Amino acid sequence: DDTTPKPAKPGLFGRLIGRGGAAPVVRRVLDDDMLEQLEELLISADMGVDTALRVTANMAEGRLGRKLSVQEIKELMSQEIARIMEPVAKPLPLYPRTPQVVLVVGVNGSGKTTTIGKLASQFRAAGKKVVIAAGDTFRAAAVEQLQVWGERAGVPVLTAPEGSDPASLAFDAMTQAQADGADLLLIDTAGRLQNRGDLMEELAKIVRVIRKKDPTAPHNTLLVLDATTGQNALNQVKVFRDISDVSGLVMTKLDGTAKGGVLVALADRFGLPIHAIGVGEQIDDLSPFDPEEFAAALVG
Ligand code: GDP
Repeated sequence: DDTTPKPAKPGLFGRLIGRGGAAPVVRRVLDDDMLEQLEELLISADMGVDTALRVTANMAEGRLGRKLSVQEIKELMSQEIARIMEPVAKPLPLYPRTPQVVLVVGVNGSGKTTTIGKLASQFRAAGKKVVIAAGDTFRAAAVEQLQVWGERAGVPVLTAPEGSDPASLAFDAMTQAQADGADLLLIDTAGRLQNRGDLMEELAKIVRVIRKKDPTAPHNTLLVLDATTGQNALNQVKVFRDISDVSGLVMTKLDGTAKGGVLVALADRFGLPIHAIGVGEQIDDLSPFDPEEFAAALVG
């Protein structure tokens, strides 16, 4: 099954064993030395120091000085990671109110366009009527890309002339989604963080105008993050939480990165729901986030 997420390649322990670390059946004492090695391993997967320390401390709890096989240590580590991840593994909540308005934010290149296409396709397959608004009106390429994804997903994409006001497009999209009886409106937004103040104002204006049509909107603000940026993703969460009401995350490019550990750091630090993960460039490459599967693959 090639849609199975493989956050780390090879898994952490694969790398340890690769360095002549240990064979799976060898039993070793869980002591400070061992814990330090495990910490290093977690940090090498971009988990960050604080979270790595939390994982190893939980692993050591009541077990210090015991002899464990590598297999047992792996299982323990995987359990502790899954425990941090479980509370954040939540699919995008669906509201009875329609259209449900989902604002999609994130820096350029994070995979916003692709994720919108994948989400549109999934919801359409589930029988939902979906509309996409190409709100990054300053990037002609982004609008074109979104149109391609809309075609693939069989979902209409509303666009506006290059350089026009994204809020005005969002307002028109709300009007049309309401008139069409759409279930879901996905709004793409600009990802230019170079001028944070401008982006904040742009996002705030979009929210203001869509609230004229539905005071409860947007119902979700999805932040799309690129797993390959590692610890940078933490910074992006901070910035986007400052400039918008981030309600949940989608982590893209988890296929083929060894930096998946950043997801654990994100869960530990912010506790924001992880609604889905991107595991490839194709339309079906968006999976629900499964903490146990993720942890097992990360540990390897
Ligand atoms: P945007 O600028 O945020 O809209 O980003 P795009 O959606 O255009 O994606 C940027 C690049 O990342 C494109 O080449 C995508 O094919 C690629 N991409 C997006 N999501 C994934 C993913 O989950 N896995 C992989 N391998 N590539 C992805």
